[in-house]
Amino acid sequence: RPENSPGPFFVDHTCIDCDTCRWMAPATFASVGDMSAVVRQPQSAAERQAAMQALLSCPTFSIHVRERQPGELKAVQQSFPLPVPGCDSVFHTGFAAERSFGATAYFIRRPEGNLLVDVPRWTPLLAQRLQQLGGVRWVFLTHRDDVSDHAAWAAHFPACQRIIHAKEVNRRQGTDQCEVVLEGEGPWALPDGGGDVQLVFTPGHTAGCVSLLYRPDKALLTGDHLAWSHRMQRLTIFRAYNWHSVELQLASVAALRRLDFLHVLPGHGRRARFADAADRERQLEALL
Ligand code: SF4
Repeated sequence: RPENSPGPFFVDHTCIDCDTCRWMAPATFASVGDMSAVVRQPQSAAERQAAMQALLSCPTFSIHVRERQPGELKAVQQSFPLPVPGCDSVFHTGFAAERSFGATAYFIRRPEGNLLVDVPRWTPLLAQRLQQLGGVRWVFLTHRDDVSDHAAWAAHFPACQRIIHAKEVNRRQGTDQCEVVLEGEGPWALPDGGGDVQLVFTPGHTAGCVSLLYRPDKALLTGDHLAWSHRMQRLTIFRAYNWHSVELQLASVAALRRLDFLHVLPGHGRRARFADAADRERQLEALL
């Protein structure tokens, strides 16, 4: 794209405007027109590392770099999954999938069995990294939009079971093969009985959306239910992408007030981090 700033990194015209590179490497990428562009070439090792991580995470392989240092790509691949700031056990997997429109997937490391929350694109190198961190016991799918390569991930880890709500199951996406199907309105624990995870019914974006509360890190993983808007600088729901009921989605957001969380970690949109419960309440109130 001619909008790119001159230099080694550039974005091509296949960008689908998913926002991933912009939040992963904001010093380098920004929105120009209806796509991303490199607005400033990386100026430091840290900025270059973030730009390379964004390059690997781009769902459409639209980011390129003209020259690489020896061993650089491998080192960046090995840096995934990336820690989520403020959380001890929650990581961002990177390697977003085009079929999920670049949705962010998360990896949670826990003694009872590690968890993927939604799935990145199938990437053997990432699978190897997750194996080194103890493998994947559960794949939790928040809803039908972000299921991507779930079957490949589940097949790779022999003990892995996928979890999804009954209202999100369909044959076309192969989610009728999920091993654990949630019925009703919960809340549910994981089948391993760990009290650290609570699955919270949050219908509205679709009929069977479920969010996941990871209590030790006070992190609420919301799929497409709730996110931070960078543009509006407040919490938001994506009304233009609501496939079921906006009213129900807002009611599900209101019901989150009874939960103890300080992070909102969405599939799409930006993360939110609250200073304390009062801050969370203020932000929820501003949306509602
Ligand atoms: S990550 Fe890729 S598809 Fe998404 S906005 Fe950036 S360049 Fe475009």
